[in-house]
Amino acid sequence: NTFGEIDLGGPLNVNIQRCKYVKPTPVQKHAIPISLAGRDLMACAQTGSGKTAAFCFPIIAGLLHGPPRGQPFRGRQAFPSALILSPTRELSCQIHDEAKKFAHQTGIKVVVAYGGTPIHHQLRELERGVDILVATPGRLSDLLERARISLSMVKYLALDEADRMLDMGFEPQIRKIVEQMDMPPVGQRQTMFFSATFPKEIQRLAADFLYNYIFLAV
Ligand code: AMP
Repeated sequence: NTFGEIDLGGPLNVNIQRCKYVKPTPVQKHAIPISLAGRDLMACAQTGSGKTAAFCFPIIAGLLHGPPRGQPFRGRQAFPSALILSPTRELSCQIHDEAKKFAHQTGIKVVVAYGGTPIHHQLRELERGVDILVATPGRLSDLLERARISLSMVKYLALDEADRMLDMGFEPQIRKIVEQMDMPPVGQRQTMFFSATFPKEIQRLAADFLYNYIFLAV
C-alpha cells in the first residue's frame, strides 16, 4: 500500500518521493498495475481521485523501460510516443504541470497544446521535440491538419474526462485523431480511458478504441 511496493523504476520513484506521494490513491493502486502489465483500461474516476498520476506513471515507466522510442522530431513534424487528450485548456495545463514533475530529469519531454491562444509558441515548442503530448482535441486537429504532428509513433493513448469531451462535442475530432494512429490496438498501442460516468456513448467509444480492456470503478 505504498509506492515502494509498485516498482516503477529508479528515476520515477525519486520523482514520486519528491512530489511527496507516499500512498497510492484507490484509482492509482488498481490502475497502475493493470497498465504496467500492458492491458487496456477503462476507469471510472472523479476529479481529485489522483487519476493524473494513474495514467502518467505507466506512460513514463513504459517510455523509460520499454523498447527505444522513435525520433521526437523529424522534418517539420513532431512524433510523440504518448498522447494525453483532455477537454479544456485548464485541465491540459494541470496535466502538463504534473507530468513535467513526474518526468523530471528523465529526458522525457512533455509538451502541451491547447486552443484559444496563438499557435506559434506551441509550434516552436513542438519543434524542440516531444515525447508526451498533452492536448485538447480541437488544437490537436489543427496541428494535424497543418502536418506539424504525426501520431504514427503513439504507443500510449490516454483520454482524460472522456465524458466531458463528448459533452463538448469532440467525438468527431477524437475519432479522427485515433484513426491517425498507426499502431494497432492489439498488442501495440496501449489505451487508457478515464471518465467520471459510463454512459452508452462512452461504452461505444471504449469498445471501438480499447482492446480486451479491464473495467475499473473506484
Ligand atoms: P488529480 O485527481 O490527478 O487531479 O489529483 C488531485 C490532487 O491530488 C493533485 O493535487 C495531486 O497532486 C494529488 N495527488 C494525487 N495522487 C496523490 C498521492 N498518491 N498522494 C498524495 N497526493 C496525491
